[in-house]
Amino acid sequence: MDNAIYAATERRTQAFRRVIEEKKLDAAFVCSGPNVRYLSGFAGTPGDAALFITPDKAFIITDSRYTIQAGEQCPYYTLVSGNATDINMVKGLLTRGGATVVGFENLNISYDRYTRLCSILDADNTPVRLDNSIENLRNIKDRIELDNIRRACKIACKALSETVPYIVPGAAELDVATELEYRMKKNGASGPSFDTIVASGVRGALPHGLASEKIIKNGELVTIDFGALYNGYCSDMTRTFAVGEPDKELLKIYNIVLGAQLTALDAYKPDMLGRALDQVARDYIAEAGYGKYFGHGLGHGVGLEIHEGVGVGAHSVSVLAENTVFSVEPGIYIENLGGVRIEDLVTYSDGVFEILTSDSPKAFAVL
Ligand code: ZN
Ligand code: ZN
Repeated sequence: MDNAIYAATERRTQAFRRVIEEKKLDAAFVCSGPNVRYLSGFAGTPGDAALFITPDKAFIITDSRYTIQAGEQCPYYTLVSGNATDINMVKGLLTRGGATVVGFENLNISYDRYTRLCSILDADNTPVRLDNSIENLRNIKDRIELDNIRRACKIACKALSETVPYIVPGAAELDVATELEYRMKKNGASGPSFDTIVASGVRGALPHGLASEKIIKNGELVTIDFGALYNGYCSDMTRTFAVGEPDKELLKIYNIVLGAQLTALDAYKPDMLGRALDQVARDYIAEAGYGKYFGHGLGHGVGLEIHEGVGVGAHSVSVLAENTVFSVEPGIYIENLGGVRIEDLVTYSDGVFEILTSDSPKAFAVL
């Protein structure tokens, strides 16, 4: 048995039990992939396991494909063999424990599953919303999670440095994305943490321009936004390169975006609000005259999912607390010209502000 996993999943489940207690529940039914993984350690396909947690018991429902795996990965949980989507499995556990008040993930569950859950409760009894109580726990990362994210960031940085020689005139954006994803896997990632963005030339004006068949040309900027998945945890970073000498205005906006990003990183203080950090970068870009070209938020939380936890946007009241992990990614996007984004993943932990993707240089680079 892996004692560290046992201890971590016990600690996380106990923290969730305080929610169960506050909401006066007899039990909670948890079926969304990231929440199941966070609480139990189950790393199988999302949806193939579900949890039934009471104040003193913790069950994982999964089928024969995962019996051995769940035994290894979820030592704190008692295995109940069956189909995770079969509501009769939950009914059996309800009856066994005499539970009547059951919490459910109203933000994640399908309507069909919700109605099936209702059907096994007494007519005068409806399931109780858990809202984002598990997501709130996930927002503050523990040591194991931080180590997984650190590793995912290291892998991504190394893969990018190995991919740089392939970012040349004549290469398609998809060639670059393919090389990068291959290198991430070679360095230990289980895959990319989201679909790789490679946006060159005028496509750089698309903040989420997925890699396409477009050929990279001399004089263009290439924005690459990507991440590695390691032990279920995501990294997220963006670098923008010049392939040959670019247009003067593109060089100018590169330096503005870099200045905004460095100023925001410098301005971070523990427990500041997301919107306060966003404001630092937004003011910098506005003062340089490009305010209307920075349309998205400065960043977002990252963890088991690529977007989770804290928000770092213009209206975000999230607290950027110790052990949250979030991105800092200002950008400028100008239609028919191109765009620049620079993104790092950061955390404040044990009194240290860490830029987790600092292995990749950010100074303007002409390839
Ligand atoms: Zn990104
Ligand atoms: Zn991001």
